[in-house]
Amino acid sequence: MEKYDFDLFIIGAGSGGVRAARLASKLGKRVGIAEEYRFGGTCVIRGCVPKKLMVFASSYSKIFQESVGFGWDQKELLFSWDKFSKSMNSEIDRLEQIYNELLSSSKVKIFQQKAKLTSSNSIILNDKTEVTSKYVLIATGGEPLKLDVEGGDLTITSNDIFNLKHLPQKMVIIGGGYIACEFASIFNGFGTEVSIVYRGDRILRGFDNDIRESIEKAFLQKGIKILNNCSPKSIRSKHDKFELQLSNKQLINTDIVLSAIGRKPNTENLGLDILKLDLTKQGAIRVNKFQQTSQKSIFAIGDVTNRLNLTPVAIRDAVALINTIFGEKKQSPDHKLVPTAVFTKPEVGTVGLTETEARKNFNVKIFKTYFSSLGSKIKNNQEKIMMKLVVCNRTDKILGCHIVGDGASEMIQMFGISMKMGVKKKDLDSTCAVHPTIAEEIVTLS
Ligand code: NDP
Repeated sequence: MEKYDFDLFIIGAGSGGVRAARLASKLGKRVGIAEEYRFGGTCVIRGCVPKKLMVFASSYSKIFQESVGFGWDQKELLFSWDKFSKSMNSEIDRLEQIYNELLSSSKVKIFQQKAKLTSSNSIILNDKTEVTSKYVLIATGGEPLKLDVEGGDLTITSNDIFNLKHLPQKMVIIGGGYIACEFASIFNGFGTEVSIVYRGDRILRGFDNDIRESIEKAFLQKGIKILNNCSPKSIRSKHDKFELQLSNKQLINTDIVLSAIGRKPNTENLGLDILKLDLTKQGAIRVNKFQQTSQKSIFAIGDVTNRLNLTPVAIRDAVALINTIFGEKKQSPDHKLVPTAVFTKPEVGTVGLTETEARKNFNVKIFKTYFSSLGSKIKNNQEKIMMKLVVCNRTDKILGCHIVGDGASEMIQMFGISMKMGVKKKDLDSTCAVHPTIAEEIVTLS
């Protein structure tokens, strides 16, 4: 007779939780998973996946415009928000179903309800079922923060943006990070009049300054308004629209306000207080290098730990965790040199140190280029592609790579591999270019 009902019980069926469940099950472990909302988590249901579908949808306006120079004649272009929403939602339903099937076919026991810890080895479900498990994994992710000003509750967040009934004519976005910039770009592509209200002096803080400058320039060229160094003081509802009073005394009227001011870890109502689990100042679950919490049998991965809040990182966290608890050797997740992209138009791709970060510890050489891609004259596209390498003068090793331009997300994935392998500038110099491409510039920088 087994001591526990499960070997591993997972709370949260997002990218990290589902991967951990499938891996443990493949090892013959008895796995249970609880999810209170939909399977797939933020990434599949209200994050990366629907966002990328919106990026695709909104990109056509530019493609149609550019096609004219190549001889195409677009008589009448019509976009149906309703039709697009239906396609997007049915794709999300399909993917959620796949997640469900992957779990069932892996013989993972699914509990479609809220779960709460009652001790370090026991969990109570919403329907009052109690289960016990040798190990518990908390993979509950995070949720968007709401703006804490008068009328902050009138704003929507990235959770709501996929359920809009109509395409807004005007939109104000608060924040200047990933989500703010991606949705500014998406809705600009759809033809919405977008204004970004950002409290700092330039959007995308934390990214290399040349990326920040290039994106700001590209956004302004596309007609996205950027109000730097200001924040909303109050938001008032006015005849189905909203009026924002800004700290610089400006008043703006808009159809919707998107609050994109960061996310917080999902730790409420999980019973963590009863267990006195250690939390960080930001409310994230504190874990050691093997992702173990202050309770020996309880582990946490992904956004709920607020280390590096990216889907592929949560998936890697899951792999390391399963190796730690069921493998022969404990494994810490590797959060170094993680390539990432911001799906704006133009895209951002980045990996490694920014120039400013690198200069703190290294004597560096900078290789940088700005250029127009082939055909941009015919496309009437003024966008400049930016590529930049931060190279260590002493070792010739590449410390950072930063790209702004079409295809940057795809290029940075490949470049991330080279960075992990310790690529040097001389390796790029000895690599032959693929011509004519955008990516070839990375091996011809001098
Ligand atoms: P970010 O942390 O990227 O950006 C938050 C923004 O909001 C910053 O510009 C910040 O300003 C501003 N801000 C914070 N608090 C306030 C406030 N009280 N009032 C006004 N402005 C404020 O968070 P996001 O919400 O954009 O995204 C959350 C996370 O999700 C990202 O960090 C990323 O990890 C992940 N993500 C990844 C994506 C991808 O990989 N493509 C896409 C979307 C999300 P300041 O700069 O001054 O701090």
